[in-house]
Amino acid sequence: MTQNFTGSFTQQEPIPQAAMAAAMAVMQSGRLHRYNTHGDEIAEAALLEEEFADLVGAKYCLAVASGGYAMATALRALGVRSGDRVLTNAFTLAPVPGSIAAVGAVPVFVGVTEDLVIDLDDLATKLDQAKVLMLSHMRGHICDMDALMALCDAAGVTVIEDCAHTMGAHWDGMPSGRWGKVGCFSTQTYKHINSGEGGFLITDDPEVMARAIMLSGSYMLFEKHRAAPPPEAFAQIKYETPNISGRMDNLRAAILRPQLKDLRTQCDRWNDRYRVVEDGLQDVPGLALIDRPAKEGFVASSFQFLLLDWSADAVGEVIDRCKARGVELKWFGGAEPAGFTSRYDSWRYAPTAPMPTSDRVLAGVVDMRLPLTFSLEDCALIARIIRAEVSAVFQSA
Ligand SMILES: *Cc1c(COP(=O)(O)O)cnc(C)c1O
Repeated sequence: MTQNFTGSFTQQEPIPQAAMAAAMAVMQSGRLHRYNTHGDEIAEAALLEEEFADLVGAKYCLAVASGGYAMATALRALGVRSGDRVLTNAFTLAPVPGSIAAVGAVPVFVGVTEDLVIDLDDLATKLDQAKVLMLSHMRGHICDMDALMALCDAAGVTVIEDCAHTMGAHWDGMPSGRWGKVGCFSTQTYKHINSGEGGFLITDDPEVMARAIMLSGSYMLFEKHRAAPPPEAFAQIKYETPNISGRMDNLRAAILRPQLKDLRTQCDRWNDRYRVVEDGLQDVPGLALIDRPAKEGFVASSFQFLLLDWSADAVGEVIDRCKARGVELKWFGGAEPAGFTSRYDSWRYAPTAPMPTSDRVLAGVVDMRLPLTFSLEDCALIARIIRAEVSAVFQSA
């Protein structure tokens, strides 16, 4: 009997009870705006920033309206101007080049390897083209950060990390987001903690954080921030920095604080699911699993594999057959952007040169979400379905 899967790949877990209670308390108070505090009351948003900074070991943290906003704010705070070029990954999602375009800058795409990380050899040849690298840890794959930082430091290129998929992850024990000058995170529904929309920006640089806080729309209320540099850091910046509102509100902050406490446990649960799928897909002819180096402390909220050098038709057939059995796979090889999936050459506002090595990888990348609503048995069934359908198409090709 062929067994089909009936779960939903976009269904996250409910918001925890403690978070719902905290949300009710904020709503009861009516003080949803982060600067609307009574007496010496500390806003939920300010507490959340303190707790997140603490969790990742950063000096400063700012909570904002989205991950994309955090990235554009990081670029602005670093002084990236209209017309500047910014290096970024060819394999990433639309908010990343979008954050670069948001400040009028121009993305310069760097290729992807078969391990689904930024191609350091390609990066080395392009470092002279920009002063900033927006490094996307796409789908939670972390490159050799020691090597990347050595390259960028030597070239005087400042690194911003897009940690939308690496909250809770690390490279060789150092948290993702702590390697570059600035780390940006998202708390959008599909990421590792869920407030619908939201994000964080972290840094140890007082000037960058002072600018980011002013940019986010702090007016002259920056002293209400706790994970922030002292008021002296704002002395000049407060006159020079435009307000481009993108604050986080207390309601979102309230539902994130209890989730942050559970983050470690949740990350372990994601990885348990990942390992079950990975085990189930060992030694499938034609299917390549992604190598995960020992130093990569990843959080696998999604799963990728490669059907390298398969024809587009054959990949399409695998995707259709899996879909018919309830397993939703996404493909990065399609010429037309679809759903959440698009690729560097579909962002036509940015100039691109062909990247044959990366195109070969992208043409084979198959991607799947692993929400925590899936049980380990679900994951085993999903792997059996993929194994059967990939094998069937591979044998008939
Ligand atoms: C989700 C995401 C972001 C940020 O997204 P927002 O929806 O703006 O919070 C950034 N980079 C990647 C790779 C993402 O998937």
